[in-house]
Amino acid sequence: MNRFSVIALAVLGSYCVQAQDKKHNGPDKDFVTDKKIQKALETGNFEGIPSPKDHRETEFYEPVPLKVDPYGQNGVPSDAIVLFDGSNLDAWINQDDNSPCPWKLDKKEKTMTIFKPKGQKGDNVVTKQKFGAVQLHIEWRSPAAIKERTGQARGNSGVALDARYEVQILDNNDNETYVNGMVGSIYKQAAPLVNPTVPTGEWNSYDIIYHPPVFKGEKRIKQATMTVLQNGVLIQDHFAIQGACAYVGWPRQDVHGKEPIRLQDHGSDVSFRNIWVRELKE
Ligand code: MG
Repeated sequence: MNRFSVIALAVLGSYCVQAQDKKHNGPDKDFVTDKKIQKALETGNFEGIPSPKDHRETEFYEPVPLKVDPYGQNGVPSDAIVLFDGSNLDAWINQDDNSPCPWKLDKKEKTMTIFKPKGQKGDNVVTKQKFGAVQLHIEWRSPAAIKERTGQARGNSGVALDARYEVQILDNNDNETYVNGMVGSIYKQAAPLVNPTVPTGEWNSYDIIYHPPVFKGEKRIKQATMTVLQNGVLIQDHFAIQGACAYVGWPRQDVHGKEPIRLQDHGSDVSFRNIWVRELKE
């Protein structure tokens, strides 16, 4: 075989591989997909459906996922609802009497800090909007100058989904407490898998994926679940929530629908920034 034949064969071989790739990668407009097979793959119920023999039978082109710009709203996903961006406190109200959120807004630093005016009733703030299943992003910072406080009194706050399932916020740097009430715990239910907290006075983030419980009348037929990442590290792995977080006694078995997201005022000057939420399918 001469030199030109070798080159010609190499070019032809490359063309054939490309043609084959194209055949296997592109949609086949003439092939009709079977919705029954699609449903079986999505639900795991394969009963009565013979195993597909052609690769095209298990390849689907609809529905096409929504295109989301991950940084479309000043660094926030384009399909997110912004709950706090540092410009105002409009998304939040006092849980006790629905009055405006009294917390301190720092527009320059783009933060809000827990604050209770003298004589004011109530402690917590909640979103005006109610949510079901969500992906929630929130950043928080423990106050630097409270070293004299210990245990649950140091930098305590919390973010509660459906206003009752609390992921604890606490300054546990050189500060011991019960582990199912420490930073990153689901309060009095689940200790975090690890503790990836940054030093006191620096910013932490929580990314929470929450699915609410399902009720049939008064009966709970599915527990709520929560997955939490702190500073990008997994700390709660699809934990099945036992009930509403209680300080004393068993978790409460509340029957509820969509409720607000709650931030706790536990008497510490914890600050927050960059809070946004994406609504998920139940
Ligand atoms: Mg708390």
